[in-house]
Amino acid sequence: MLILKKVVIEALSGCEGCEVSILDLGEELLTLLKQIEIIHAPIIMDSKHFDPFSNDLEIKIPRADIGILSGSIRTEENLEVARAVRENCDIVIANGTCACMGGIHSIANVMPLDSVKEGICPADSGADKYHLPKVTNRVISLNEVMEVDIYLPGCPPPVSMFVDAIKCVLEGRDFELPNDTVCNDCPKTKEKRTVFSDKGLPFPEMLRPLEPVELEDRCLFEQGYFCMGAATRSGCGGVCMKMDMPCRGCMGPRRIEENPRAELLGSLAVYGYTLRDVHDRRAAFNWFTGAHNNLRPIR
Ligand code: SF4
Ligand code: SF4
Ligand code: SF4
Repeated sequence: MLILKKVVIEALSGCEGCEVSILDLGEELLTLLKQIEIIHAPIIMDSKHFDPFSNDLEIKIPRADIGILSGSIRTEENLEVARAVRENCDIVIANGTCACMGGIHSIANVMPLDSVKEGICPADSGADKYHLPKVTNRVISLNEVMEVDIYLPGCPPPVSMFVDAIKCVLEGRDFELPNDTVCNDCPKTKEKRTVFSDKGLPFPEMLRPLEPVELEDRCLFEQGYFCMGAATRSGCGGVCMKMDMPCRGCMGPRRIEENPRAELLGSLAVYGYTLRDVHDRRAAFNWFTGAHNNLRPIR
């Protein structure tokens, strides 16, 4: 008789899009369910660890072969849940960019904690009476507090990558992430010069992502958009550029803890831009990768 691998799915701080994307696997999920048994997944079987009325925290994570954790650590409850998953699961998968590198909300790491709290739960909001879990000083990724066996970056991770990783675990094979950059998957063409230099014009101010794209087939960076494709791991199929949107780097850099800044500064320099030309530059290089101290509060 086939013994099904037991799977725990838990969400920390994030948008839960990574869990929804698991439920959205469609037929692939039905195939996987012949080999796995999901024994704990709050998104489909409601369970709460923290009772905001009594302030009690009771974490119950069953023993399992695979623990899939998405979201990053923003509260002490998140930290305890993550540690409980690590303790009870043989293989831990960091599912999604929040778990791997902090995710989009780790942009908050550029602000001192007090101003984050004041912006979200002002002192006069009355939220105190609910004994909300204590927030951590900054947004933390999983591998800053525990060992991670498999990283699945992406916001959310590409479906094929998720399925491949689970199959590797089931078959006892090593899972490897793609090692190219998004530029390799991009449908646009790089000419290694800007459209402005074609016309003998100086660089204008950098364009915002929603400003209309003039040349459909040409690299967006070369048309004046800040595109992070050159510093971002491939695997998504260049999906944003197919919609004429520059890459924002949701797959993160090719090394999980790396700050993409160095590589992007190189790209800017090639085309004659400087750091000052980038809109929202405090966070622009690390939209999704603010953990690992890549983003720190302004002093
Ligand atoms: S990685 Fe993206 S989709 Fe997944 S939880 Fe974080 S914000 Fe949501
Ligand atoms: S910089 Fe962006 S638009 Fe240009 S080739 Fe790379 S991914 Fe495509
Ligand atoms: S193109 Fe960039 S932002 Fe878009 S999905 Fe791929 S990695 Fe993420």
